[in-house]
Amino acid sequence: MTGGAAERAAWLREQIDRANHAYYVLDAPEISDAEYDRLFRELQQLEADHPALRSPDSPTQRVGAPVASALAKVTHLRPMISLGNAFTPEELTAWEERNARILPEVRIAGYTTEIKIDGAAVSLTYEGGRLTAGATRGNGIIGEDITANLRTIADVPLALKRDGWPRLMEIRGEVYLPYAGFTRVNQGRERDGEPLFANPRNAAAGGLRQLDPNITRRRRLRMFAFAVEPIEGRLSARTHWELLDLLAGWGFQIESHRERFGTLAEVQAAITSYEELIPRLPFQADGVVVKVDRLELHGELGSVGGREPRWAIARKFAPEVAVTRVEDIRINVGRTGALNPWAVLAPVEISGVTVSAATLHNEELIAQKDIRIGDQVEIIRAGEVIPQVVRPLPDKRTGQERAFRMPDRCPACDTPVERPAGEAMRYCPNVSCPGRVLEGIVHYASSDAMDIRGLGYERVRQFLTAGLISDVADLYELTAERLVQLDRFAAQSAGQLVAAIDASKARPLSSLLFGLGIRHVGKTVAQLLARRFGTMQALMHASEEDISDVPGVGPAIAEAAAAFFAEPRNHELIRRLERAGLTFSEPRAAKADGALKGRSYVLTGTLPTLSRGQATELIEAAGGRVTGSVSRKTDAVVAGADAGGKLEKARACEVEIIDEAELLRRLGRTA
Ligand SMILES: [Zn+2]
Repeated sequence: MTGGAAERAAWLREQIDRANHAYYVLDAPEISDAEYDRLFRELQQLEADHPALRSPDSPTQRVGAPVASALAKVTHLRPMISLGNAFTPEELTAWEERNARILPEVRIAGYTTEIKIDGAAVSLTYEGGRLTAGATRGNGIIGEDITANLRTIADVPLALKRDGWPRLMEIRGEVYLPYAGFTRVNQGRERDGEPLFANPRNAAAGGLRQLDPNITRRRRLRMFAFAVEPIEGRLSARTHWELLDLLAGWGFQIESHRERFGTLAEVQAAITSYEELIPRLPFQADGVVVKVDRLELHGELGSVGGREPRWAIARKFAPEVAVTRVEDIRINVGRTGALNPWAVLAPVEISGVTVSAATLHNEELIAQKDIRIGDQVEIIRAGEVIPQVVRPLPDKRTGQERAFRMPDRCPACDTPVERPAGEAMRYCPNVSCPGRVLEGIVHYASSDAMDIRGLGYERVRQFLTAGLISDVADLYELTAERLVQLDRFAAQSAGQLVAAIDASKARPLSSLLFGLGIRHVGKTVAQLLARRFGTMQALMHASEEDISDVPGVGPAIAEAAAAFFAEPRNHELIRRLERAGLTFSEPRAAKADGALKGRSYVLTGTLPTLSRGQATELIEAAGGRVTGSVSRKTDAVVAGADAGGKLEKARACEVEIIDEAELLRRLGRTA
């Protein structure tokens, strides 16, 4: 190991810790997600290359290996309780009166109140102060093992601070995604053509149940802890309030709006201010949890049926519900061509805002809920989340309602729509579809794609309205003389914009592929494709099978890419971009001194330790190439278990066949 590597690892850890602090504590991210990912992966690689550099407190130790197939079931050491609800002041008073009847000789005074976070409940097992397991709530008795995913959450301590913790205990917490993160996650999904999450809770719960902890880590979930179940050993706390202090001292995040009151009347008086506070919180919450403060009373009060404790209750604020009429169901075409149905509502006021539209997500949801045009429906609006239709009111039907059918043709351009097998969405495949154009051009100009400074929504809309452009190829025909004739366009900024558009011609193929907005082709996939095929021509002539052969590219991506290049209108667009003088190739990083310089390899079968992606990265880092099919130009086939036709082809072509150990030896990585 070199001193340089140790220094680099220390520097990377410092950068990552600093970025985490800025993101989680200061709520002011200093670096982009992409930059963060790059630092993180470099550190992972460095620690893989130099095992001596690994340390238990490295941020990489939060991310383990993906789970093979499904999450395992685990039984909680103590059942995870669920709370009863009180929706009115009277119901809260009735709760106290019930408790007074159960313990007539005790005066139950003293309550703690906490925000009820609307996330996903989890259980964390700590043994000797170290996190050993974590699970979803499941049915309260049996949950799913999500230990690897919980370890990626910065708010989950891997080792507890101080001491005084029971030797074996379960911590209860609520995992959530703040609104800002929710917006970020959905923007990413929109960019990659994936269906959007309806609310932060779904995004958090989905993030927890991933098989690959790297996906959980990128979602940047948060957690508040709120309870302890000691299994072996005792708690020093006598009240719930003290218990929250203990949790904070051990390193957990505690929601800050907790309060302590002497009587229930005081709690009731505070409820109004909580109700005003909740819409202003940076995360979704739906009420206040009221708990009897003295822990000894918890045991005496017990629970209803072993599941619902008598010593705690959720004073819930139902999101305001309004009833209105669905005037129509319309389709909005997104950048990737996804057809998004939405409801045109008779305007109605809800939570102080006039609402006249609500998302309907996709056709399956419309069918499941049986929402018809003309129906009276209940709608809710919670926090900053877009209004949603909860359910229709079938009793109010007059017989005039019409069932909705998704169109078979794009409502914006009349192209027949496609519905990929296994997907809930339909797509317009026409890249020049006016419904897709605005979003598409803005995406094309974004910094991760063609990076055209100064070309945002406002400008693109202006150019579209003036009839100057109708697709991305038209951008390259804009002149400064023409732009200055538009409103609000000074000669200087017109010149700068034309220069920025011109400069984008030099962007590599990977940026162009990402910019074209092919469904499922995000930044990473665009780079994989550009590196593998090298030129636009080679990629356009590749078969779906060739594309799915690229490590890291699955069948769904290959199908979407092949369909994109099969569309004649897309051919025409690409031809015009070529005429405009765009770079249609990916620069190859020269690896002058690589051990496998200029050699061509084919991977087949399952290798004992390396994934295909890892093997490809290693070969490419050493200057070699990995290709999808065996030919006489292939230097060697690296074969693993269950190798198929490629192995036979290699024998027929008399190509050398080696195993993983031999590959590693040639890479200078003998085990
Ligand atoms: Zn269309």
